[in-house]
Amino acid sequence: MTPDIDCIVIGAGVVGLATARALALAGREVLIVDAAEDIGTGTSSRNSEVIHAGIYYPAGSLKAALCVRGKQMLYDYCAERGIGHKRLGKLIVATTAEQADQLDAIAVRARANGVDDMQKLDAAAARALEPALHCTAALLSPSTGIVDSHALMLSLQGDAENAGAQTVFFTPLISGRVLPGGGFELTFGGEGAMQITCRTLINASGLHAPSLARSIAGIPASTIPPEFLCKGSYFTLAGRAPFSRLIYPVPQHAGLGVHLTLDMGGQAKFGPDTQWIEHEDYALDATRAEVFYDAVRSYWPGLPDGALMPGYTGIRPKISGPSDPAADFVIAGPATHGIPGLVNQFGIESPGLTASLAIAAATSAALNA
Ligand SMILES: Cc1cc2nc3c(=O)[nH]c(=O)nc-3n(C[C@H](O)[C@H](O)[C@H](O)COP(=O)(O)OP(=O)(O)OC[C@H]3O[C@@H](n4cnc5c(N)ncnc54)[C@H](O)[C@@H]3O)c2cc1C
Repeated sequence: MTPDIDCIVIGAGVVGLATARALALAGREVLIVDAAEDIGTGTSSRNSEVIHAGIYYPAGSLKAALCVRGKQMLYDYCAERGIGHKRLGKLIVATTAEQADQLDAIAVRARANGVDDMQKLDAAAARALEPALHCTAALLSPSTGIVDSHALMLSLQGDAENAGAQTVFFTPLISGRVLPGGGFELTFGGEGAMQITCRTLINASGLHAPSLARSIAGIPASTIPPEFLCKGSYFTLAGRAPFSRLIYPVPQHAGLGVHLTLDMGGQAKFGPDTQWIEHEDYALDATRAEVFYDAVRSYWPGLPDGALMPGYTGIRPKISGPSDPAADFVIAGPATHGIPGLVNQFGIESPGLTASLAIAAATSAALNA
């Protein structure tokens, strides 16, 4: 059969846009379809906007490889396109002797991932950099930074569209099927309600990517992971923070701990915490601030009472549950499920923003593997 269109990318978040850009630049005909009203309305605009160095992830994992590669690609891309970003550096701080030991393990893991610029600091050296900081020891990561994620997404969309891609909004994918002779038939609702066939399908739909894969008849169920949601809340700081670097506690199981990040305008925010939830819900529970005061004061005792203002929430697209080991990114192409022309991106939580350009390249490679 002749498909209506060559490639369809479901999802106009940062990873979907980066993937669409890579395919369009490779000369493919690309349609980007999103259920929402604009690009980046999901997780891509509800995160810390940190360019991660690639420190924490298990050696040999996709998260480690794609974060380290993606970080360099992202710094180069931002510099080339004039996208707002700053290589601020970050301190991972220990506030107990036990955590100080964990810093050594983090440094070893970072080195195994190819992050070889980490520096161990004693408390005095850390305070010389950040006088308001309380810690017993710290690790400095000079290659951690921040990026204007919306400017990044606009640039990715612009590149894709300049290479011929088209973007359609208000058009949720409802169901589909793998066609016996190759390709896909997809049914969309919303404003652009239509049934359309394509040769290549990229599932970059974020939080519900496993459900979306399950709605397409013919994809083996055994290749689709379960879906879990883990909310993270942020509080912003009234006034200026006395820090010029990002400050992170030693990481916890489902997240990186309540950290301090700065945006491009110098506004400080704290978060995200972790809260496993059943349904997509971005409401912020202002009473969580109490826990934030305690967590932040462990490394910034000078946080004034009443300084934390409700910010926003984001939801991590988890594919492992609260008591499971942390899952890796899954970029499931034909080598995984046996269906030519299909890539499912599952579990693209942090560091998905950092890794977006590398995930796009890996997705293109998976299509051809
Ligand atoms: C709290 C939090 C903090 C984070 N901090 C960082 C960080 O500092 N640094 C970092 O590197 N990463 C961070 N991340 C991870 C990063 O934000 C994500 O990995 C990234 O944004 C994922 O992008 P995406 O394009 O895969 O998904 P999304 O941005 O979720 O985009 C998916 C899109 O698919 C669309 N969609 C869904 N279903 C359908 C459908 N049926 N039909 C059509 N369209 C559909 C949605 O509308 C949405 O626009 C963080 C994540 C969270 C939750």
